Amino acid sequence: MPELPEVETIRRVLLPYLKNAVIENVRVDDAAIAYPSPARFAELVEGQRIKYLERRGKFLRFVLEKGVMTLHLRMTGCLTLLPQGTPDPPHLRAVFFLSSGRRLNFEDVRRFGRLWFTHAGEADVSGAERLGIEPFDGALTVDFLAEKCKNRKRTVKQLLLDQSVIAGIGNIYSDEILFFAGIRPDRTCASLEREELARLAAAIPERLEYFVEKNALDLKEHNAGKGREYRNTPFLQVYGRGGKKCVKCAEKLQRIVICGRSSIFCPHCQK
Ligand SMILES: [Zn+2]
Repeated sequence: MPELPEVETIRRVLLPYLKNAVIENVRVDDAAIAYPSPARFAELVEGQRIKYLERRGKFLRFVLEKGVMTLHLRMTGCLTLLPQGTPDPPHLRAVFFLSSGRRLNFEDVRRFGRLWFTHAGEADVSGAERLGIEPFDGALTVDFLAEKCKNRKRTVKQLLLDQSVIAGIGNIYSDEILFFAGIRPDRTCASLEREELARLAAAIPERLEYFVEKNALDLKEHNAGKGREYRNTPFLQVYGRGGKKCVKCAEKLQRIVICGRSSIFCPHCQK
């Protein structure tokens, strides 16, 4: 599932090609995915110029001349940008034909991805406006975390996954952040010392920026990977490595389940 570094990678890859392109035609192939309705969505978006592409948490926001088109990729959604003569890929849910001669394909095997159009000033229905702070926001301080952790019995892993506290972190990067900070994922928030919260506050933007940088790729590479292959996998230190040796101390990494989510950690490096 794409998390902040993947969505930010997609944004950086596509932005130079989408900025100032006009959406000439839209085809929505799956009635369930577009708000307010597929026909109305297409009508509202067609003819509009893309001014900018923003990211908010795991949401991509296409800032148009009049309103915003918001996309959430959810589990398996992906975007590819190809010449207009290219045939439809499998699992195509929507396609945007652009004035630049390219087509922006939204593909999604599991069909959980969603598109919303909202006019400026209209109430947000995508959920993007209910998100917590961005991990790169200066507001993410030790005091902010201390406030969120006060008297909380939930685990620090759950805190990191809570999109209404900090936006954009999922299962992969919560494990990576906690490993970097030296904190076990099953620690309760209330048990965290100020010094540990300081390490966590520093590790969150540091790790996410690191993985965004490791992901850097160009449009050709992005399309070749069908919009869903990323380069940072070899740099993951704990996620997906349960039972393997810790990169720091060679101890065996352990897997535990916290509220239905698998978590990998080093019992020696993380306290
Ligand atoms: Zn270790």
